[in-house]
Amino acid sequence: MKKLMLLMILAVIAVSLCAVIDTQAEISGYHGIVEHRDGKPWLKELWGEDMRLLLAPQSVLDTLGLALADGDSIYVEGIRDKDLMLVGKLWMESGNLNMYWLRDFDLGDIYPGGAAYKVDAQKCIGCRLCVAPCPLGAITMVKGKAVIDQEKCTECGICKDGYGKFKGCPVGAIETK
Ligand code: SF4
Ligand code: SF4
Repeated sequence: MKKLMLLMILAVIAVSLCAVIDTQAEISGYHGIVEHRDGKPWLKELWGEDMRLLLAPQSVLDTLGLALADGDSIYVEGIRDKDLMLVGKLWMESGNLNMYWLRDFDLGDIYPGGAAYKVDAQKCIGCRLCVAPCPLGAITMVKGKAVIDQEKCTECGICKDGYGKFKGCPVGAIETK
């Protein structure tokens, strides 16, 4: 009974931390400088708030030849939700203004699959804490265990490492392959 109560409380907390980005929301564009924080890319706008960039799995970025370095000047178009930015298109301002197309918000990801994040079902205790914070809604519960949809995951790492009030999977069940 106590365990059930605890799970219900955790589920309520998780819902309050809901971070799924509405891909039907309005697309907007931002210009700024890249800065990596804890290995994750952020955009520092010249006049505005910083935002964390949700790009695509590293395998996709490698396929595109897209490597972001601190100090790169870029322009991104996508859907913003507070300080998270799900990127659809990205322009590198170095040289000839290369454009990288990561996703179409009507059709979905352009290069689906291949994400490195997975849940170790042996370790997962089914607490559901990771479900709501995933900005892509890529985590569902199957038979009491979290499962990551490889075609939705951008490898942002939020489920594993946490973000804001959510401190990441409490038992270290989320790993990279
Ligand atoms: S992966 Fe971790 S946070 Fe997600 S349900 Fe399992 S134990 Fe909970
Ligand atoms: S790394 Fe985790 S939080 Fe981020 S998109 Fe993938 S499943 Fe969701």
